[in-house]
Amino acid sequence: MLLEQLSEEPTDDVVGELLMLERNGLARRNQPLAAYTTMRVGGAADWWAEPNTEEELQTVLRAVREAGVPLQILGAGSNLIVGDDGFHGLALKLGSGFAWHRVEGHRIVAGGAMMLPKLTHIANQNLLGNFEWACGIPGTVGGSIWGNAGARGFNGETFESRDAAADLESVVAYDRDGNRQFLWRDEIQFSYRRSSLGERIVTEATFALRPLTPEQAKAHKEATTQLLKRRRETQPVNASSSGCIWQNPNIESGPLAGCRGAGELIEKLGLKGHSSGHAAISEIHANFIVNMGGATSEDVLALMSSVEEIAWREAGVRLEREARLVS
Ligand SMILES: Cc1cc2nc3c(=O)[nH]c(=O)nc-3n(C[C@H](O)[C@H](O)[C@H](O)COP(=O)(O)OP(=O)(O)OC[C@H]3O[C@@H](n4cnc5c(N)ncnc54)[C@H](O)[C@@H]3O)c2cc1C
Repeated sequence: MLLEQLSEEPTDDVVGELLMLERNGLARRNQPLAAYTTMRVGGAADWWAEPNTEEELQTVLRAVREAGVPLQILGAGSNLIVGDDGFHGLALKLGSGFAWHRVEGHRIVAGGAMMLPKLTHIANQNLLGNFEWACGIPGTVGGSIWGNAGARGFNGETFESRDAAADLESVVAYDRDGNRQFLWRDEIQFSYRRSSLGERIVTEATFALRPLTPEQAKAHKEATTQLLKRRRETQPVNASSSGCIWQNPNIESGPLAGCRGAGELIEKLGLKGHSSGHAAISEIHANFIVNMGGATSEDVLALMSSVEEIAWREAGVRLEREARLVS
C-alpha cells in the first residue's frame, strides 16, 4: 500500500486536499528537514505542516487521510535520521502552540511540543520532584512518551534510572483520522524505549510528581546540576547527533559477555573514531554517531551498518537500532 502510494504520481484530488491546506496557511511544500533534527542530515519533505491548535491538527490529519499520502510525525527530531531522499509525504511537527504547561497541585499538564529540560526546570520551581531524569534529553513531551525516553534521575536520596512512563498519569492523543482520545497510563503499554502508542500523536500529557519542601527542592536542583555535568563529561552534547543510536543489548555469552551497554561494546571493539564520510563514532561515547560537518544520511547509515556487521562478526551481538530512520 505504502509503496504503491509512493510510486504513484499524486492525482489532482490528492494534491487538491493538500493545496487546500497550503491555501489556508496550514501546510507548505518542499521543506528541508535536516534543520528540524539534531543530527542535521537528510533531504526535504514534499509537504510540511506545523499546526498550533488541536483544530488545526485535526484539519491537517483529515486532509492527509483524504489525500492518502504518508504521514511522518516529528518532535524535536532528536532521535530521527532523515534519509537523503527526504520524505515523500507530509511531515508534521506540533507547533509552538503545543509548547504549553499548567501546574495543578502536584501534577504538571504539558503540551506535546513542550521540551523536557524546560519541564524539569518548571517542576523544580514549583516544588515538584522526580522529573530530573529528563533534564538533559533534548526531546519533546510527545516524542519522549511515544518512545518512552529514560535516563538516570534522582529519587530524593539516590540517582536511579527513570523513564517517561514512570510518573505519567494520562495522555491526550489523536489518531490518524483526527479523532481525539484520552488515555490513562494503564491503557498504554510501555517497555524499554517503547510504547504501544503506534500511530497516535500525543498532544498533551499529565505527570503526577512528588511534592517537595523548599529544602528538598534545593537538593533536587543540585542533583539536576550533577546529572547535567555528568552528561557533559560522558556524552558529545555539543555535537550534532541523534543520541544513542543502538539499544543496550543483553550480552550473556561470547567474547564480550558482561558489557553493560552498546557504547561499552562498541568501544571494546575498538570502534571509537570509526568513520564513514563525515560521520564518526564519537570519541566521547561510542553509542553516539556524530555529524562532523557536512555528513549525509548515507554516511550515517553506512557507519551504522558497518558497526552492526562488526558487532555481529566479532562478538556475536545483534545491535538493535534506537534511532529511527525517516525515508
Ligand atoms: C545529545 C542527546 C542526548 C540524548 N539522551 C537521551 C537519553 O538520555 N535518553 C533517551 O531516552 N533518549 C535520549 N536521546 C534521544 C532523544 O532525545 C529521545 O529519544 C527523545 O525522547 C526524542 O524526542 P523527540 O521529541 O526529539 O522525538 P523525535 O526524535 O522527533 O521522534 C522520535 C519518535 O517519536 C515520534 N513522535 C515525535 N513526536 C510525537 C508526538 N507528539 N506524538 C507521537 N509520536 C511522536 C516520531 O514520529 C518518532 O517516531 C538523546 C538525544 C540526544 C541528541
